[in-house]
Amino acid sequence: MSRHLLETYGGPVPRYTSYPTAPHFRDGIGPADYAGGLAGLAPADGPVSIYLHIPYCRELCTYCGCTTKITRRYAPIAAYVDDLRAEIDLVAAASGNPPAVSHVHFGGGTPNILGAGDFRAVMEHLHAAFRFGPQTETAVEIDPRVLSHDMAEAMAAGGVTRVSIGVQDLNERVQRAINRAQPFTVVRRAVDLLRAVGIDRINLDLMYGLPLQTVDHVLRTVDRTAELEAQRIALFGYAHVPWMKSHQRLLDGLPRADAQGRFDQAAAAALRLVCNGYRRVGLDHFALPDDSLCQALDAGRLRRNFQGYTTDTANVLLGLGASAIGELPGGYFQNAPDTGTYRRRIAAGQLATVKGIPIDADDHRRRAVIERLMCDMTVDLDRFGGTASFTAELARLHDMAADGLVRVDGAVVTVPEDARPLMRAVAAVFDAYLPAPGTVPQARHSQAV
Ligand code: SF4
Repeated sequence: MSRHLLETYGGPVPRYTSYPTAPHFRDGIGPADYAGGLAGLAPADGPVSIYLHIPYCRELCTYCGCTTKITRRYAPIAAYVDDLRAEIDLVAAASGNPPAVSHVHFGGGTPNILGAGDFRAVMEHLHAAFRFGPQTETAVEIDPRVLSHDMAEAMAAGGVTRVSIGVQDLNERVQRAINRAQPFTVVRRAVDLLRAVGIDRINLDLMYGLPLQTVDHVLRTVDRTAELEAQRIALFGYAHVPWMKSHQRLLDGLPRADAQGRFDQAAAAALRLVCNGYRRVGLDHFALPDDSLCQALDAGRLRRNFQGYTTDTANVLLGLGASAIGELPGGYFQNAPDTGTYRRRIAAGQLATVKGIPIDADDHRRRAVIERLMCDMTVDLDRFGGTASFTAELARLHDMAADGLVRVDGAVVTVPEDARPLMRAVAAVFDAYLPAPGTVPQARHSQAV
């Protein structure tokens, strides 16, 4: 990709795991709004997806962009588990008839910091409050450094079907720089442990653009992890956002690749993954051809949500835990990000909603266009109101088309394969919440590549 394209279109842009995106959520939306939305859920809204946030880790990785707290003690985690169970009851009661559940996802932080007994208790509580079926998928993000045998067994007993393992980069110097010492043997042991208890759907999360990282490091990591035969690989670019995550300032003095260097790392890793038999899925995911993510892609059923690309087709998301976001037909609702406020709200018997955004028909339409572009790299605007509804957007796409970033054939907008890394810039054209380029400064998102 040319330097001109990277400089013109590689600037800050949302990741579009939601639309409107989280920086546009606003205060003034609280428990009563969320309770009203939950009460309005109808069988026609279909099954729900559940996200649980576990905001605790044993030590801080200095590249971390997640909402988490560092603790060496278990007492705060045990207390948080009690709050989660209370919140499950509150949300289930507000939802009326227990909805069926399509997906459960534990994210963090470090979900496997939970004791095995506490993980079982949370799963039992979920099963008592909602309707689970044989098709329900349960996924857990784990830190392989703290995976115990007991926890692996508890996850298997709790019905966990997929585990995502944070790997990032296997080079020792890079790991030292980001304060995440994690030799390959630790990852290998975690994979073996999970497969031994029957959890055989494994995702690996890799990163590029980290301090000290080079193309060679990224390729060595891809090659070494190939022997683990993971079904899915996610390749995320490190987002240096010290104005949001002040601990990232610890990395300021270390060399990091520029836009061209980041592109080279991502492109080299992608090519190697494809050579290793993976198919590209969306912006940053790779999956073996027989994986359900590829089947969803081929069938036009691939979806994008806060966890990235997914086969989950639920239109309703119940977010549990500090900072968790719920999505109902009428809007997004976010819990208090700090655990103190979250815990006080739940202890008082209230939902912990502190912000959100209502979504209207225009938001729904734009969200669908953006999601199809981010998933399929093509969208037929005739399915979403037609070209007459997007005249300003089509004018902007015209300029991008001249640069080869997009093709417009009548009502069909397509991102060519060469421009895949910049698909967020094309999607952003349909984002009504972003100021037009050149007017006022844009919200500070991460770089497009
Ligand atoms: S384990 Fe994950 S969530 Fe925890 S500090 Fe490291 S990167 Fe952040």
